[in-house]
Amino acid sequence: MCLICDRIEMIKNGTNPYFVKELETGYVVIGDNQHFYGYSLFLYKNHDYTELFQLDMEERTKFMKEMSIVAEAASRAFHPEKMNYELLGMGDAHLHWHLYPRRKGDIEDYGHNGIGPVWCYPMEKIYADECRPSTEELETMKANLLKELDQLLN
Ligand SMILES: [Zn+2]
Repeated sequence: MCLICDRIEMIKNGTNPYFVKELETGYVVIGDNQHFYGYSLFLYKNHDYTELFQLDMEERTKFMKEMSIVAEAASRAFHPEKMNYELLGMGDAHLHWHLYPRRKGDIEDYGHNGIGPVWCYPMEKIYADECRPSTEELETMKANLLKELDQLLN
């Protein structure tokens, strides 16, 4: 089983503290580590496919549309300068979008003098324990993201 399937199982069991909302094609969660404040993910609802192009066009379009709504909600909730959208999958092939709110200076001088994707920033800094939100911070983030999602989806 993959890590993302495990997390989805926790959502279904009501034991995933990062869960925000279920949409038609997937689940919205807050990222475990918040160096990039507002980092959120949109997890495809199952592990039946590992490439966007494997989804039939209707499903693919719906997944992309819902992802863009999650990104818009994150932008409204967390006020970055720019959103970054990434679907990678070499760690876990399960279709999942990383939605990164970006701000100038957020990778310090890494990348090309501070310009580049989040992955220019050292993994140990991205995943540092001190970047984990407190329970209270997490609840606030979830509430803010949910509020914006509900507004955009209604
Ligand atoms: Zn999976």
